[in-house]
Amino acid sequence: MTETNASLTDLLRPVKHVLLDFDGPVCSVFAGFPAPDVAQSLQEGLEALGWKMPEQGQVETDPLALLRLVAEHRPDLVSPADRRLTLLETGAVQSGRPNPGGEAVLRACAESGRAVSIVSNNATAAIESYLAAHDLTRYVTRSVGRTPGDPASMKPSPRLLLEAMSGGETQDFIFVGDATRDVEAGLAAGVGAIGYANKPGKRERLEAAGALVVVDSMDSIAAALEASS
Ligand SMILES: [Mg+2]
Repeated sequence: MTETNASLTDLLRPVKHVLLDFDGPVCSVFAGFPAPDVAQSLQEGLEALGWKMPEQGQVETDPLALLRLVAEHRPDLVSPADRRLTLLETGAVQSGRPNPGGEAVLRACAESGRAVSIVSNNATAAIESYLAAHDLTRYVTRSVGRTPGDPASMKPSPRLLLEAMSGGETQDFIFVGDATRDVEAGLAAGVGAIGYANKPGKRERLEAAGALVVVDSMDSIAAALEASS
């Protein structure tokens, strides 16, 4: 059953443009090609370029965290590492799993005259590939992935959000994300964040980070978008 959330409806009423995190709200990027396997493949590529992993890197199973490590230890290898990771992510989304309610939010935005931009730490090419494969491109104004070769652009930095909002008024936007770094990036960019608690324990963390509202399902956001149009 879709929950009705009065505060969520009120929050969404003035919103003209929804900013949506990708991995989590829209789909599970690494559902078919698990993140640790992607990290392993990225690491193998780096070893081929002659980089000996620091101890932390040897156990790093989050490919995006591994990219940050590369930037920290071998900035000269960030661009080739990012290119390799982009290819791996673009492969991974082919077996990515649509998230329940993700498409409903995209459709509810279209039906209520709201724009949608994807704002993600994943590569723009991977996001666009997923959207095209699932016939969702028409719902999305713009996809803003991490800046190629610059992992410092990734959330919790506000940079990607600011890029997606450029030329607009922050009060016209809301950001939906499933990680505390999303909420932190929103605060830093001056845009309110709705937390999507898709795992046990996330609600408390998202609330503590400063999410305006936390929901357990994307369908409740879709319902509130429809109710507030
Ligand atoms: Mg996410």
